[in-house]
Amino acid sequence: MTKQYDYELIAIGGGSGGLSVAERAASYGIKCAVVESGKMGGTCVNVGCVPKKVMWFGANLAHALKDAQDYGFDVENRGFDWQQLVTKRDDYIKGINSWYHTYLADSNIDEIQGFASFIDAHTLDVDGKRYTAKHIVVSPGTKPMVPDIPGAELGITSDGFFELQDMPKQVAIVGSGYIAVELAGVLNSLGADVCMYLRKEHVLRSFDAMLRESLLEEMLDSGIDIMSRTQLVEIRQEADGKLTLVDEKGRENSGFDQLIWAIGRDPNTEGMKLDAAGIAVDEQGYIPTDKFQKTNVDHIFALGDVTGRAPLTPVAIAAGRRLADRLYNNQVDRHLDYSLVPTVVFSHPPIGTVGLTEEDAREQHGEAVKVYQTRFTAMYNALTRHKVQTAMKLVCVGAQEKVIGCHVIGPGADEMMQGFAVAIRMGATKKDLDDTIAIHPTSSEELVTMR
Ligand SMILES: Cc1cc2nc3c(=O)[nH]c(=O)nc-3n(C[C@H](O)[C@H](O)[C@H](O)COP(=O)(O)OP(=O)(O)OC[C@H]3O[C@@H](n4cnc5c(N)ncnc54)[C@H](O)[C@@H]3O)c2cc1C
Repeated sequence: MTKQYDYELIAIGGGSGGLSVAERAASYGIKCAVVESGKMGGTCVNVGCVPKKVMWFGANLAHALKDAQDYGFDVENRGFDWQQLVTKRDDYIKGINSWYHTYLADSNIDEIQGFASFIDAHTLDVDGKRYTAKHIVVSPGTKPMVPDIPGAELGITSDGFFELQDMPKQVAIVGSGYIAVELAGVLNSLGADVCMYLRKEHVLRSFDAMLRESLLEEMLDSGIDIMSRTQLVEIRQEADGKLTLVDEKGRENSGFDQLIWAIGRDPNTEGMKLDAAGIAVDEQGYIPTDKFQKTNVDHIFALGDVTGRAPLTPVAIAAGRRLADRLYNNQVDRHLDYSLVPTVVFSHPPIGTVGLTEEDAREQHGEAVKVYQTRFTAMYNALTRHKVQTAMKLVCVGAQEKVIGCHVIGPGADEMMQGFAVAIRMGATKKDLDDTIAIHPTSSEELVTMR
């Protein structure tokens, strides 16, 4: 490294992206630092994947308690202690936070606590102190959006959901994306009355139609109210503290003790003075990069949610590791391929999906597309009163029937998808799946026996 810089690499943001690029760079002996203004671990650890999954496990147990009766157990749900779950969840997360501090120190990565902004293209200000670096990685993530309507501040976002010390009883959730459906599923399963407000007709708009439609049916079946094609224009707090939601047609819905905005996220770059380094952003404020995560400034890179592409933890991690491999380990063409990113929605039931939806496949490949699908009740639910549907779809293309999409909703879909994602990434055809011996009795065996 040329002597003039304090570090070879500084990552702004101690989340999935910033930590992964620094970890990999440090493993190559690179002098690097991570700047974090909040808690180490970023969104995923503190207000995202991790606390969400803990709540999802809790919600699953509520279902299991009901199902246990159908399996002959003399049990009943005599109440649920939200505070106990939240306290244990937060203790678990504190453990991860403090593990990071030790891990970074052990990995020779300097941890700089504070808010980073650019002074110039090689210099950062962190709460009044200057740091210089040869390479800078911008990975500040995103923050939840709140609409600009009267009374919007009476609601909370997913961040606020994780701060709740008591379980809300009557909850309105506004939004149709995966965070909205996941929070709706958790609250409904744990006993709250949930009403979802959708701007259009469907949840999970970019997902395969089979997944969207099946999930909507399951949500309605489990008692979640859905107000579709509804645009809220005002939120009011009544004398009893409850919230009234007013829509654009003047209709009012009252009696909510909590409102959660889950309408999307904005890039978290406010105050970073990106322009002082000449970093370009798009019209929504995301930082565009080339396939090597490079911004318009040669030695400045952007990673993770702030790039506006596939906002998922493993994507940020994979992009960060590949960037460090390329910069510091001579792997000159190493970069992340953003196609075929598998993902899970921790809804009730969960969804696992990878590759093209049927709609997109037909648009791209027309008549060459062949679709296999099935719908059934899993064996587990044969004995339970509450039946959950499982639905599966394989999207194939060409004479070889290469599998270009795999979509599953149903119990176990979350753990099913990882292995199929490997096969699909390796170019598996329908025949490869057919030639694979089924594991019986499971739900996933249907994916290798579909006709
Ligand atoms: C409710 C919820 C559930 C989710 N569930 C999942 C899931 O199940 N699976 C999955 O793969 N993904 C999930 N995600 C998405 C996942 O959390 C993100 O994709 C991931 O955290 C992105 O990593 P990142 O490094 O880009 O940003 P982040 O993890 O957001 O990290 C950015 C960090 O930068 C810090 N920062 C910002 N600006 C500055 C600054 N100027 N100076 C210093 N520090 C700064 C922030 O404090 C933050 O800690 C979920 C997200 C949410 C909100």
